[in-house]
Amino acid sequence: MNKSEFIEELKKLNINITDHMLDELEIYKNFLQEYNKHTNLTAITNDEDIYLKHFYDSLTIVKAIDLNRVESLLDIGTGAGFPGMVIKILYPNIKLTLLDANNKKIKFLEELSTKLNIDVELIHSRVEEYAKNNLNKFDIVTSRAVANLRILTELSLPLVKVNGYIIALKGNIASELIDAKNTINILNSEIEDIFTFDLYQNNGQRNIIKIKKNKESALKDLRSYDKIIKKPLQKSNK
Ligand code: SAM
Repeated sequence: MNKSEFIEELKKLNINITDHMLDELEIYKNFLQEYNKHTNLTAITNDEDIYLKHFYDSLTIVKAIDLNRVESLLDIGTGAGFPGMVIKILYPNIKLTLLDANNKKIKFLEELSTKLNIDVELIHSRVEEYAKNNLNKFDIVTSRAVANLRILTELSLPLVKVNGYIIALKGNIASELIDAKNTINILNSEIEDIFTFDLYQNNGQRNIIKIKKNKESALKDLRSYDKIIKKPLQKSNK
């Protein structure tokens, strides 16, 4: 996807990108490519792929949520900033927190945000640790390619406010959905919508899962990562 195709496809998503935002994305792309030569951040490295599979793919989230109305957003397992950093460039009013367990990714994001003069909170932590002191805090928790849906929902729902959403960007999800349903239910949440589409020019199936949280989470309900991995949540083992 070249830059003019990117702009055209964004228009179809009702996004009008400014020249300033385009400049910021170009700086982001160049810095990612340069940094990636000495520190492995992403396997997607050529210009057109970065525009399609990182920038455009991140912004397809607008199919699921009106980002103009979001105040606080946490992106977990953000890696080199996807989708969180791209969202912040297009929607600068959002209070953004980016979290990753991998410190080399956080270091990259620190340098990038300084370069772009973007105000963002960067957290080097595992989600399940961070959740202990940040329950019921964010309007939206996003993630792309972080864990299967059952694990992801248990990790991220505690961080969302009541009536807030987790929005997961994923490839194929058929079997994950069945696995995740019980966990979502026990965590007093519901799948509100699933948006399924092909990424521009047959670049693979995408699913955006939008899950609404209906009740506050309590510290006592958090489980260790080990337990989350080993055994699906059940009413009795909360
Ligand atoms: N979201 C980015 C993207 O789509 O390009 C990165 C995806 S990468 C496959 C998964 C990232 O999630 C890694 O950077 C990893 O360190 C992070 N991650 C996985 N499990 C995590 C956890 N429990 N807490 C924090 N970060 C986690």
